[in-house]
Amino acid sequence: MKNQALNCDSPVFNQSMMSADSALDFLLKAALAPSKTEAVDLDDALGRILSEDINSSINVPGFDNSAMDGYTIALGNEHLNKTNLRFSIVDRIPAGSTGNELSEGCAARIFTGAPIPKGANTVIMQEECQLSEDGSQITIDRAINLNENIRPTGNDIVEGGVILQRGRQLQPQDISLAASVGVGGLRVFSKIKVGVFFTGDELVEPGKPLTPGKIYNSNRYALVALLKQVGCEVINLGNIEDKFASTCNALSELCGKCDLIMTTGGVSVGEEDHVKGAVESLGELNLWKIRMKPGKPLAFGKVGNTAFIGLPGNPVSSFVTFAIFALPFIKKMQGNSKHQSNAIQVQTNFDCKRAKPRREYARARLDYSTGSAQANLFPKQGSDVMSSIVWADGIIEIPENTTFEAGELLNYYPLSELTR
Ligand code: AMP
Ligand code: MG
Repeated sequence: MKNQALNCDSPVFNQSMMSADSALDFLLKAALAPSKTEAVDLDDALGRILSEDINSSINVPGFDNSAMDGYTIALGNEHLNKTNLRFSIVDRIPAGSTGNELSEGCAARIFTGAPIPKGANTVIMQEECQLSEDGSQITIDRAINLNENIRPTGNDIVEGGVILQRGRQLQPQDISLAASVGVGGLRVFSKIKVGVFFTGDELVEPGKPLTPGKIYNSNRYALVALLKQVGCEVINLGNIEDKFASTCNALSELCGKCDLIMTTGGVSVGEEDHVKGAVESLGELNLWKIRMKPGKPLAFGKVGNTAFIGLPGNPVSSFVTFAIFALPFIKKMQGNSKHQSNAIQVQTNFDCKRAKPRREYARARLDYSTGSAQANLFPKQGSDVMSSIVWADGIIEIPENTTFEAGELLNYYPLSELTR
């Protein structure tokens, strides 16, 4: 891979342009950690962010228990390294009950999860035991070892240890682990509220007829769905008349109710649009031109004390800038300790003969037919081609100012990393 950094020093590209990394750094520094928490039942904890470490007050398992359905035996020294041993069955211990102490040379029928009785020191699975005709004895052909098939106390969790850390987004397995130590509810950060509205004289709501020059408002549905998917409460004011006073009213209404306000469109330079002016008049606004493709313009600011992010209008730009910038910002505001998306390295099935001044977040799909993952690009990479994201399973990062041959290893973000 050849870095042709010289090109990017050209004033044409650098003039007031920001790198994607600097924009993300800036946003993450500005993201306020959440302050409010609430208690939730385990059944309502999925996807929520833990606001405190969870410790275990017990060992799991709480007692040595059988890993098999079989027979537990009290072996003495004389039984070790011998084959064809015979033991009398003196007890039966189903899971949930406790057995009596076993004397040396005796066995008890035992079931998976049942406690190992005092005196017993091994478990033999039932398939390896021959039961006598009257059912009173077992014979085992092979030599038996101590501690076979016993799950020791604390094998999974040791009392006092931290089992789940603050800032973790709760998955089904986490909720199960909490339940296994007897925790009945969890303290999580309260959901953040995101207020959204949309402007643009060309926009028509789906379901209504299109008139000449109009397009359907698709960003609205992407943004609301993305926000819901990442666990935000959404206050959606819908389409707002593109007038300064109406835009100010919408911003003021959301400002008191939300942690973040988001819009799409109307943030390009020179745009005839009232979002920029209204945000500036009620708070502060940074309009960034980011050295990336798609999605050059991005607005970040404040309305009163509420953060504001204005995504670009082109549907792919809006989606990609949400994924690259807004998602980590929102996750940090939610208290999620893993707010950055993880890339994996994959080989390209394409080359890049001419260095590009802007980093490209290209829509790609992985092909595993050759054994290792190879990234193919969607043929149309325009910022208006939403079908590219529907086709893709991820986004590949084509570095700026760089040429490479096919087979180059590049960062690839699965869409799952970029949308939740
Ligand atoms: P803008 O950023 O407002 O200059 O818009 C750039 C492009 O995105 C234009 O072609 C707009 O028509 C289109 N666009 C803006 N908002 C939306 C939207 N909500 N849904 C679909 N396309 C949009
Ligand atoms: Mg517009």
